[in-house]
Amino acid sequence: MTNIQVENLRKEFSGESGTITAVDDVSFTVEDGEFVCIVGPSGCGKTTLLRCIAGLETPTSGSIQLGGEEVANVPPQHRNLAFVFQDITLYPHMKVWQNISYPLKLSGHSKDERYEQAREVAETIQIGELLDKYPGDLSGGQQQRVAIGRSIIRSPRAYLLDEPMSDLDAKLKKEMRVELQQIQREVGGTMTYVTHDQEEAMTLSDRMLVMDDGEIQQYGSPHTVYHEPNNAFVAQFIGSPEINLLSATCPNGDARTVKVDESGWRIGTGIDEEVPEEVMVGFRPRHTTVHRDGSGELEGEISLVESVGDEGIVYVDSDVGELRSVVEIEDNPVREGETVGIDVERTYLFDREDG
Ligand code: ADP
Ligand code: MG
Repeated sequence: MTNIQVENLRKEFSGESGTITAVDDVSFTVEDGEFVCIVGPSGCGKTTLLRCIAGLETPTSGSIQLGGEEVANVPPQHRNLAFVFQDITLYPHMKVWQNISYPLKLSGHSKDERYEQAREVAETIQIGELLDKYPGDLSGGQQQRVAIGRSIIRSPRAYLLDEPMSDLDAKLKKEMRVELQQIQREVGGTMTYVTHDQEEAMTLSDRMLVMDDGEIQQYGSPHTVYHEPNNAFVAQFIGSPEINLLSATCPNGDARTVKVDESGWRIGTGIDEEVPEEVMVGFRPRHTTVHRDGSGELEGEISLVESVGDEGIVYVDSDVGELRSVVEIEDNPVREGETVGIDVERTYLFDREDG
């Protein structure tokens, strides 16, 4: 396996309606054996970035190195990278083992060799019993595994996966995530995995690269990205339920108390550093407490309770707008229409200009 080093990568598309910068001065490294998710909303440039690494797009400028070797002039088939894309393209008239070993056929291996290697790969990803079936007989998840099997049979230098699970249902997705991690451990692969699903990125990544509008917003471990978001975009995109974000002002850049613009509510932040005057104040639903006796910094009426297992997401119509909070569902859960107080335990401040 190998590392991937991307430096100042830029990709523009020019058309009749002008020029789009799909990837805008992106630099990062995926270490050997690391699992990196590229995550961001639709259209932010994830696929274009991956296709540049694969050699399927020619960058406008910048450099891509695989294991220290510049690959600008190396055609895709000689980069020795494995791709799995969203659309699974198995050959319907070929059995599973033939599908898995197809890349070996192209490189002239004998039928016995191909069967044997397909069997080994299938064992690794636990579809050994499917070798003689046809794709049409398989479930979506099984087909996905065959596609992964086909991508790993040539022992590539690294894997590039573009939303490979977006067509699967939620339960299967969870199973596949666990399996994908197992496969990665088994083959020790360098993985670059594109998804628009922040939860998927949070569970799979060693590090996640959060993109918006062609640019890297943050690159770090799921823990860092969640707990120390670089800007309001990252804070809002990562974490569920979504962070509460309010436009606020810090008079003279003093962050200890900020004034929420809409209501004039003053919130203590405990942040003792100079900040810009115009900020966004954020607090995660999990970092709030709902008080049924109405006490707390903020007051409001519950407009909606969504139960998710042992937890409830509570939407509160408060003096500062709609807020989200997370509560434990007990014997006597909070109800819609109830008046409650809310305390905020941990706040973030973001520059309003930034992200
Ligand atoms: P993502 O995978 O994050 O959804 P893409 O990389 O597919 O985003 O697209 C990023 C931007 O580049 C979008 O604005 C998209 O419309 C544009 N784009 C992607 N591919 C092409 C192309 N071949 N020609 C013109 N524009 C493109
Ligand atoms: Mg895409």
